[in-house]
Amino acid sequence: MDFQLDFRRYSLAFRHPVRTSHGSWTVREGLYVRIGRPDGTVGLGEAAPVPAFGTETVAEDEACCRTLGGRISGDALSLVPRHLRALRNALAFAIGGDADNPRHSSIGVAALLPAGRAALADAPPKADAGFRVFKWKVGMAAADDEMALLDDLIGALPPGSRFRLDANGAWDRRTAERWLDRVSGRPVEFVEQPVAHGTKRADDCLAGLAADYPTPIALDESIAGEDDVGRWLDLGWRGYFIIKPALVGDVRAVLARLAKAHARVVFSSALETGIGAQAALRLAFAWPGKALSLGFGVWPLFSDPRFDGPRAVPFLRIGDLNRINPEALWSAAS
Ligand code: MG
Repeated sequence: MDFQLDFRRYSLAFRHPVRTSHGSWTVREGLYVRIGRPDGTVGLGEAAPVPAFGTETVAEDEACCRTLGGRISGDALSLVPRHLRALRNALAFAIGGDADNPRHSSIGVAALLPAGRAALADAPPKADAGFRVFKWKVGMAAADDEMALLDDLIGALPPGSRFRLDANGAWDRRTAERWLDRVSGRPVEFVEQPVAHGTKRADDCLAGLAADYPTPIALDESIAGEDDVGRWLDLGWRGYFIIKPALVGDVRAVLARLAKAHARVVFSSALETGIGAQAALRLAFAWPGKALSLGFGVWPLFSDPRFDGPRAVPFLRIGDLNRINPEALWSAAS
């Protein structure tokens, strides 16, 4: 059974440069795949790699699509190298379609706050709009200053508000310990990636912090690949897993493993466009466990709003996803 494969690269400016630990990120590059199925239906998928997160590059994805050619068989995925995770993800969705039944009708969204003092002005209007979970980047300034700011933020928001603090691996162990001491008893849902990832020592440090403090820790950069998820599950990790479906090669298998382990999973954006967002969010709505607030409060994101996923609202409904028209994005990318 043959499928028709077409692909298109896109290059989209962010409305505002995205600050990352690797510097300023101004243009999102990725690739759409479009699969014509034998029954005449069409499936679209998005490869939105983030090389800084250990994925392949868009150039590698494009080269692979050229190698596959215009006609592919149903098992073409087996020809895609395993490390091309974003592309495997895109092809799996485009070939297989939306195979997951929703189990939630609406899921909360975490409001994204700007780093530093700017959060103090940004957060109250978001609380007024109905957001109660706030994600705040930390590790950008001196810990004492940020700790004081966190108290100001807590004081500025309605009771019941909760915080996710994302350090992106910026702290050393001592700083992480000071923070975890400080937030104990404060409304902090979790501390995300307090220390760096990638070494045995870093893993031991994360496991030690998780054992020593009551505030849960979330793994983000530590679980860039599907092998990492398995490794942390094997280690008995009881904290949170931040899953960016766009960056996981065999995402359904990974989620099945996490579900079996009753893991706490936060579905999160990889700053993809609407096609990838729709696929990722459908997985979030199909998640059999507790639906934690989504890390998808990122849109509007692109200078060209046609490529945005659903605008950040306190609660996302399944209908918001179904309004995304992948074919329109494919056309707009030409
Ligand atoms: Mg993070």
